[in-house]
Amino acid sequence: MLTTQSLRDYALNVVQVDKIGVANIERFDAAPPDMDPRNIMPKARSVVVFLKRIIRGTCRGVDEGTHWSSYHVYSYAGLSAMLGTAKDKLLRFIEQNGYDATPLSAIGTSREFGPTAPPAAPGLPPREVVVQHRIAGTLAGLGEIGWSKVFLTKEFGPRQRLGIILTDAELEPDPIETGALCDRCKRCVVECPGGAIDRDRSVSIDVEGHHIEWNDLDLGKCKLTHFGLNKLSGPFFAKRFPGVRMAVGEQEVTWLEAWDLGWAMFPTMPALSALSASPVAACGARGCIIGCMKHLEAEGAVENTFSTRPIFSDGRPWRLSEEPGHRFEDHKGFTWNPDAPEAEEPARDEPRNDEGWY
Ligand code: SF4
Ligand code: SF4
Repeated sequence: MLTTQSLRDYALNVVQVDKIGVANIERFDAAPPDMDPRNIMPKARSVVVFLKRIIRGTCRGVDEGTHWSSYHVYSYAGLSAMLGTAKDKLLRFIEQNGYDATPLSAIGTSREFGPTAPPAAPGLPPREVVVQHRIAGTLAGLGEIGWSKVFLTKEFGPRQRLGIILTDAELEPDPIETGALCDRCKRCVVECPGGAIDRDRSVSIDVEGHHIEWNDLDLGKCKLTHFGLNKLSGPFFAKRFPGVRMAVGEQEVTWLEAWDLGWAMFPTMPALSALSASPVAACGARGCIIGCMKHLEAEGAVENTFSTRPIFSDGRPWRLSEEPGHRFEDHKGFTWNPDAPEAEEPARDEPRNDEGWY
């Protein structure tokens, strides 16, 4: 017989996901039609959400400012592939027990891709429905959405990615737990190299007595940075286009504009395009994951602890220069001159706190 406990045992011990939870479908009663799981699987009774951790060491090279590919390979594209494998095993397990199971994929919402298309026929639900993974994770009791909009758990802080399965099995829901992790320190705001995380403006929903709130993220600035077009946070664009000044923090682009620009520019950056056929996670999530991880570890708020480096790192987060390289030397196109004078450190408008952090 399929129960929440039998599914959890199989998921943790056989599939080796790191955490799994269940939300009853009624927790989605307030969802807009283009985010309601029942508009994908009308007889869905439960929403199963599981996660696999981001291995902490895959953030090391980005934090050191020396090596970007491990984060993308192991903690972004690679982890997404591992989630897919885990999801396949869980789908088979649910089906073996005699229930329907529908997998969902983690993509941008249809709203981010532009205007929602009309229904396939009059009276039908919206044609494009996307269930927000982080809201589903919260409703399944796995953790909470931080101010950064990244999902936080007590086990791993901001280090995980989520997968969703809808099923018509009526499973015992897990309790929702919010408000225990994110203390609104805003370190994610300060350390986000894209200036994408808003300090004050927020988005919120209320579900079963829980007020769930996160910053009104600038998706365009985040996407430009994520795709490697931010000269402050990665060497790739600067190396290929040393004469271009593109201050990502000053751009006013939609997610879709940034997406298209990223795809257009990606093949021109050999260090990134050698890694993947599609744009890669070149930001390394330095504000929303790495900065937040350091804060939560310093607060002792994360259960997955480490003996020799209890706090991931204590150095000041670095920034590259976004100024055109030819200010320092003759501009000869593709160039990197180790003898060029070091760029001045950008001014910061945040005072250091007692721990020396901005
Ligand atoms: S750094 Fe983490 S704990 Fe601090 S405000 Fe951002 S999400 Fe919350
Ligand atoms: S992925 Fe990078 S740019 Fe986007 S919010 Fe996180 S730190 Fe900021």
